[in-house]
Amino acid sequence: MIATKVILAGKVYTPKEEISDAAILLEGHRIASVGPRSQVKVPAGATVIDNSDRIVVPGFIDLHIHGAAGHDFMEGTAEAVSTVAAYLARHGTTAFLATTVTARMDRTLRAVGGLARAITAAQGAPGGSGQAAGAQPLGIHFEGPFLNVKTRGAHPAAEIRTPSVEVFSRLLDRAMGTARVLTLAPELDGALTLLEFARSRGVRVALGHSNATFEETERAVAAGATHAVHCFNAMRPFTHHDPGIVGAVLTDDRFSAELIADGVHVTPPAAMILARAKGLERILLVTDCVSGAGMPDGTYRVGSSTIRVAGGVCRTKEGRLAGSTLTLHAAIRNLARFTGASFPECLVCATLNPARILGLEKRKGVIAPGADADLVALDINGGVTQTYVQGQAVL
Ligand SMILES: [Zn+2]
Repeated sequence: MIATKVILAGKVYTPKEEISDAAILLEGHRIASVGPRSQVKVPAGATVIDNSDRIVVPGFIDLHIHGAAGHDFMEGTAEAVSTVAAYLARHGTTAFLATTVTARMDRTLRAVGGLARAITAAQGAPGGSGQAAGAQPLGIHFEGPFLNVKTRGAHPAAEIRTPSVEVFSRLLDRAMGTARVLTLAPELDGALTLLEFARSRGVRVALGHSNATFEETERAVAAGATHAVHCFNAMRPFTHHDPGIVGAVLTDDRFSAELIADGVHVTPPAAMILARAKGLERILLVTDCVSGAGMPDGTYRVGSSTIRVAGGVCRTKEGRLAGSTLTLHAAIRNLARFTGASFPECLVCATLNPARILGLEKRKGVIAPGADADLVALDINGGVTQTYVQGQAVL
């Protein structure tokens, strides 16, 4: 028998629609219906969860996260995945892509193999026993190794490679069907061939850590790469004579753009420029957060590098930014503050928009019949009071 639950909410943002005095009917791990309380038929015997003094929104989805709570995905262990997943759920994130960093190939292959096993295990039996201890891993985002050394950010120069179908095939084999996104620099020799190969294998290609000119970027867009990784960061800087990749991201409507909205990676006025150029429909909030997130200031590992976290800001020993300690929940609030948009308006950037990039917009990032019951309850001050992953409360 499928367990039915009704979540009553003072307000629901689906996220596009606002429903006051709402009810969400859950059947097992899915949403059966949502609407004003007076219109949702509650079956006899359903468990009623009263959140009528709360706001309920779709769970947040992070497409770019390297680790948290002392663990780094390059450890490639089930423990790393489950620890990060539990941390994320406490902050309202219900799904994520485990993101790699550039490292030695043998290490990367080992990590990817371990991640693939952990992700496959966590995805088995939706709503099944033991699966709701945290956010759900949706797959792997490969950040590197096919990046431009000039715009490498915190990725180690010695391990960066020229684009290679052969090398990526090895990574894909280890990923056992869990590869979702490949970030590459499109100006490198062989990048377009690799781009086409990745797309033919069902992997979305994102552009980043790139020194591409406007024209080089547009060639990659024409080949189907329409997602920009952490816009402004690790990109050829924009000037009016040389608009570069940033100019292409800002002006080409086919592009969606990730933003690390911590106020450190990108200043509030630059976030405003991005919002004006792209509209909230084409911005994806990501954390890019690392093992030091949710931990005290100190020294942490990201892949094979050591980073220092001071005042919540992560840097390599050369002083380069190296990921963040941000949560998506905080990022949504920051984006609202930076742009003057409301919190509900900014919700799409962390729910529906990332779901759409993965082709999951019917199942994730939305409160609608048939979608997974991935939900967050917020109190009147916006604090997370409960997170549901596939219908199961995790807090
Ligand atoms: Zn990066």
